[in-house]
Amino acid sequence: MSRLLIVSNRLPVSVQKRKRKLCFEPSVGGLATGLGAFYKSSDSIWIGWPGIAQERIEGEEKDIEAKLLSESCYPVFFSEHDVEDYYHGFCNKTIWPLFHYFTQYAVYNKDLWQTYERVNQAFADAVVEIAEGSDVIWIHDYHLMLLPKLIREKLPMATIGFFLHIPFPSFEIFRLLPWRKEILDGLLGADLVGFHTYDYTRHFLDSVHRLLGYEAVMGQITTPNHIMKADEFPMGIDYEQFSNAARSRKVRTQISRFRKKLGDCKIILSIDRLDYTKGIPQRLEAFNLFLQKKPRYRGRVVLMLIVVPSRTRVGQYALLKKQIDELVGAINGRYESIGWTPIWYLYRSLPSHSLVAMYSIADVALVTPLRDGMNLVAKEYIATKIEGKGVLVLSETAGAAKELGEAITVNVSCEEEIVQAIEQALIMPEEEQIGRIRVMQERIEHYNVNRWADEFVNKLLCAREVQKEREAKALNYETKKNLVSDFQKGDQRLVLLDYDGTLIPFSEKPKKAIPTSELVELLEELAKDSRNEVVLISGRDKDALGKWFGDLNIGLVAEHGAWIKERSKGWELLEALTSEWKEEMRPICELYVHRTPGSFIEEKEFSLAWHYRKADPRLGALRARELVNDLLNLTGNLNLQVLEGSKVVEVKNAGINKGRAALRWIPREGWDFILAIGDDWTDEDIFKVLPPIAWSIKVGFSASAAKFNLGSPNEVKLLLKEMAEA
Ligand code: UDP
Repeated sequence: MSRLLIVSNRLPVSVQKRKRKLCFEPSVGGLATGLGAFYKSSDSIWIGWPGIAQERIEGEEKDIEAKLLSESCYPVFFSEHDVEDYYHGFCNKTIWPLFHYFTQYAVYNKDLWQTYERVNQAFADAVVEIAEGSDVIWIHDYHLMLLPKLIREKLPMATIGFFLHIPFPSFEIFRLLPWRKEILDGLLGADLVGFHTYDYTRHFLDSVHRLLGYEAVMGQITTPNHIMKADEFPMGIDYEQFSNAARSRKVRTQISRFRKKLGDCKIILSIDRLDYTKGIPQRLEAFNLFLQKKPRYRGRVVLMLIVVPSRTRVGQYALLKKQIDELVGAINGRYESIGWTPIWYLYRSLPSHSLVAMYSIADVALVTPLRDGMNLVAKEYIATKIEGKGVLVLSETAGAAKELGEAITVNVSCEEEIVQAIEQALIMPEEEQIGRIRVMQERIEHYNVNRWADEFVNKLLCAREVQKEREAKALNYETKKNLVSDFQKGDQRLVLLDYDGTLIPFSEKPKKAIPTSELVELLEELAKDSRNEVVLISGRDKDALGKWFGDLNIGLVAEHGAWIKERSKGWELLEALTSEWKEEMRPICELYVHRTPGSFIEEKEFSLAWHYRKADPRLGALRARELVNDLLNLTGNLNLQVLEGSKVVEVKNAGINKGRAALRWIPREGWDFILAIGDDWTDEDIFKVLPPIAWSIKVGFSASAAKFNLGSPNEVKLLLKEMAEA
């Protein structure tokens, strides 16, 4: 069994200093409580910040480290300045508001960003220091989004998972972040990235596609040197703990005490951290409207408003506190009567038995955040309802709403809707309450926090396996040495090379992707050796290939095999081909150029290619599918084929492919070394016609018939260099 390294901003243990003495206390917050049991039950180490600035514990770091290590915690220390700029700064003034759609609160400040980078690097150093080969590294939340990549750079084979506990916003919001690409690059270092809901996953994949150009297939993204997956795992709670606590004597005593004070008033419960995302003022306004519009409930309901202090050092939070205080005062002032206060307001954190007693006694839980990654309060409320009585009113913009469909869901922008939901909840027959609660209980009991963590770790191990299979095919140091030695031994050596994406990287326009003098010299060097026969097999037209490589003593294949030029001979057509069909197909392709900004047509002698590398990736992919469909309908009775390449759709004569062209050379007698290298699926036709002795290499990591993979054209260049020098 592997060891689990949990990495999060805060450790589950916090260090404090009282009267110059160090105190160690359990940390509050969802992650620490949620994962606490899971981490204790497995062989784990938790890496994180102990919650105190370095200046306050100078000279005592070693003692703290020793004490924390005895509880399987490994501390990362920061200075006061780092806490300010990283935690209160970039995390809570930039990422938090932006990812919760509060764009007006998001601060974009380069200093804060640089501290975020630096702190992420400090975390990476700590992980690298203690990680062992078989460890599973599980990173949590928005504070550490650069960490997967930073760790991957140092530990390329590590198993790295990342879970985001807040929403991932839609592309239109995410794109506002000046460091959006760095954040995505950071996350792509993981083998698995998890989100609470399908929508957050979709938003992430969409941003990766639009900003970095990587398209996901069933949630899987293939970058030049890595394969990773994004998936949803709605976080659960420790169901048993809450439902058992609700039965405990301590909680029952607390409930009777509350009941005595409240008489037979119905209780509406509201519990949140102080945060603008929670919609507390909006909830108060809605309650105000409820009392105004439905006077018969005055004196018969009480709103228990519990606000847990949080992030008071960020300006907006102090303002929010003031706003809530004023609203509560105004509403109570307006409706209060002798013996009845409409809102009972507590601004503090509650001990867990009081919290459970509140959940248990509440007739209605009003959980109406404006935006919430998940919301555990909603799930905890359901878990404590041992008799099944109670109604949950839940905002549809909370992640939990995706799982808790039996709640009364509301659009929080609509005050009237909340008012109606409150009344519906108060008059709901008991039988219906029980029916709804039981279904939700079954679901959250089943998918509890342990199952959530187990499932994430299992999926992470699967994602790593996929990567490992690909890595096994990577042309590593050993196999490369064997290849070069095989080459050295050969007397008649055939080297078949694709051009775009294999010898040079893609450019936005094909015309810009011209060979460097270094590449031409390298090919010349290889061609000089009489034992070598080098052939470039490309989709390019013969004019371009002739212009760039015509003077070299190498074979050339243009237009995917329509034209062939053997060494020191002229161009010849593989077979008699037609091009009249282009008149009919060109207007269709032109229509797609008009409909897809950034796309254009490349016309070759026997083919038409519609390129969309510069178009919006989503629109481009959609239009490409439509174009292929239109072309297939039209070419059905013609002797034509439609090919989809890398950001290109091409229509050409049927029966022409690179494999067929390669067969001009492959069957010749006497080869004792054959190597083929290509990057897209038109090169697969070459790989398929190679004899078993041949070496074949695919550039990139998507599925291929080639025996090996290389990451990029640069790695191909290095291999060819080694061969030329061998
Ligand atoms: N909570 C707490 N003390 C309190 C009130 C609430 O520890 O006085 C806990 C509550 O049990 C829940 C968490 O705080 O587990 C709030 O999680 P949620 O996902 O609802 O919101 P977040 O604060 O993470 O945005």
